[in-house]
Amino acid sequence: MDCTTIYNDLKKLLSGEVLANVPLSEYGTWRIGGSADILVSPTTIEDICHVQRYIHERELPSVVIGDGSNILFDDTGFRGVAIHIGRALSHLHIEKDGHVTAQAGIWIPRFVSTVIRSGWQGCEHAIGVPGTLGGLVVMNGGTNRKGIGEQLTEATYVTVSGAIERLNQQECCFAYRHSIFQQKEKAIVVEASFQYEPGNVKTLRTQMVKTLVERNRKFPRKMPNCGSVFLSDPALYETVGPPGKAIEEAGLKGMTCGGAMISPLHANFIINTGGATSRDILTLITQIRAAVYERTGHRMNCEVRHLLPNGTILPAHESAEKERLANCA
Ligand SMILES: Cc1cc2nc3c(=O)[nH]c(=O)nc-3n(C[C@H](O)[C@H](O)[C@H](O)COP(=O)(O)OP(=O)(O)OC[C@H]3O[C@@H](n4cnc5c(N)ncnc54)[C@H](O)[C@@H]3O)c2cc1C
Repeated sequence: MDCTTIYNDLKKLLSGEVLANVPLSEYGTWRIGGSADILVSPTTIEDICHVQRYIHERELPSVVIGDGSNILFDDTGFRGVAIHIGRALSHLHIEKDGHVTAQAGIWIPRFVSTVIRSGWQGCEHAIGVPGTLGGLVVMNGGTNRKGIGEQLTEATYVTVSGAIERLNQQECCFAYRHSIFQQKEKAIVVEASFQYEPGNVKTLRTQMVKTLVERNRKFPRKMPNCGSVFLSDPALYETVGPPGKAIEEAGLKGMTCGGAMISPLHANFIINTGGATSRDILTLITQIRAAVYERTGHRMNCEVRHLLPNGTILPAHESAEKERLANCA
């Protein structure tokens, strides 16, 4: 891959920023990761179509990133073009009947608080999620076992070859922290529409503040982290409880590997205490899974995803397992 040519071509092609040799640690909430060869920040949907077409025609490795609040960047970085969907794509439109359309780069707390202030309810559960709407749709994120997909009516995305297509709610195949976009890895969600119900602004605001206070109390806020590392699993939940409880009961709270530590406040969070590497995080993930399996017979899977240097994105436990097996060989 001739980075200079690609950089110059993309500079000419796009209205948004194009950067070379970019530290991914600055684009993820864990503050971990080596450099991406090229990073582009499109400012229009047209830009996204252009960059997808360019990448597709040359068969270049690529990855889409939002706020990097659910992604572990590798210590060795990424050899390809990272497409950063950020605040330049934040347009939000609310119609009189509660039909809401927003671009993928909008910050979730801004999306939720604007919808609530306009008197609509249905997305308030997501108030404290610190990512982009695009990332939230891809992950079907939310809280209290709710997902943003529940009220979604349509998701617009740019295909790997640069065409604009739309999927309705059913076609998005939403399930717990899952959407079809996790299989369509190179597709880029650019916009989503929702149908919300009328709500009482005062009640919704009170609820929103309560949620935020509760989250601030429960979750580590000062040290870089990536939110919940492991997914809740109904079978584990029934016998032991949520992943945090299972990890705590295995006696792992506060355990460290290099600069990474299982949060003493909430065991389903791994914090970067300074200088943590992606290897440190993956090692802790392997150790946690093994210890919880030994105690409970349940194998926990990761919500957090790991970006490999070649552009493949895997749930972090799959990456950790591959690495463990490679080290054993
Ligand atoms: C402190 C903290 C608390 C959190 N709490 C919650 C919570 O309560 N509930 C919850 O569900 N999550 C939570 N998260 C996780 C995270 O915020 C969500 O998963 C969020 O929706 C991810 O959005 P993002 O923009 O950061 O996506 P990223 O982390 O950048 O990307 C996540 C995945 O989505 C893909 N992706 C991102 N944007 C797009 C796009 N536009 N098109 C196609 N693919 C895309 C990426 O390739 C990657 O595979 C928390 C994270 C932190 C750090």
